[in-house]
Amino acid sequence: MGLIARLAEWRENRQLGSLDVTEADWQQALGDWQVYRHLPPEMQARLHRMALRFLLRKSMVGAHGLELSDQVRLRIAGMAVLPVLELGLDWYDSWQTLVVHEGQFVAEHEWIDEFGIAHAERSALCGEAASRGPVVLSLEDVRSAGGDDAQNVVLHELAHTLDMRSEGANGAPPLHPGMDAGAWKRDFSAAWEDLAHRVRSGLTAPVDDYALEAPAEFFAVLTEAFFEQPGPLADAWPAVFRHLCDFYRQDPRSWRLQGLGRA
Ligand SMILES: [Zn+2]
Repeated sequence: MGLIARLAEWRENRQLGSLDVTEADWQQALGDWQVYRHLPPEMQARLHRMALRFLLRKSMVGAHGLELSDQVRLRIAGMAVLPVLELGLDWYDSWQTLVVHEGQFVAEHEWIDEFGIAHAERSALCGEAASRGPVVLSLEDVRSAGGDDAQNVVLHELAHTLDMRSEGANGAPPLHPGMDAGAWKRDFSAAWEDLAHRVRSGLTAPVDDYALEAPAEFFAVLTEAFFEQPGPLADAWPAVFRHLCDFYRQDPRSWRLQGLGRA
């Protein structure tokens, strides 16, 4: 590690030491999040430490003068770091700013159709991410992200930022050495076809059909399910589940076993 990097780390460690965040603060911020309640204590402690580093490194701002309480900041940071708990915070280093709106916000996008005509599209969103940032979230949706219903806007948008680290938002993040990109593509495509078939046939599906909007949405929606409803996802698409375990270097089913018996 070079001198500047060591200096930055030293400064960050000093700042971390001076932050006074209690167990009660974490409980207030994350105590209703079912996933957090399943985490073994050792993982909760690591999540706390990484979330504080996240807050030191990123700027989190309220849109239109919205004041963000410490509780909200801890909640967003705690949810945001779960996907990179075993990867490292550097996986978020391509963006810097997180913007929080009170509720859903209107985003305007321009796109060019196959005839070269530009269109402007306005849509109400609960979250959005761009490869260089910002990550944009609706506070209303952050607040309601505590259930284990696989609806978690923070996990969803942060998954997009990981996906965008290689070749744009295409449904595949940069894979680790030893992971097979061909097998990833094959198994995710098969799961996509299966979901499309289930939706067409009115059968139950392991994830929300919003996943079929685009390959990038498929990866983001599956990430939500991976952390929040790992059992049904693994039962439906075991090969895809294994790829996600390999990528995130976690198996969320195991916490549930270890965490059983705890509140
Ligand atoms: Zn999305």
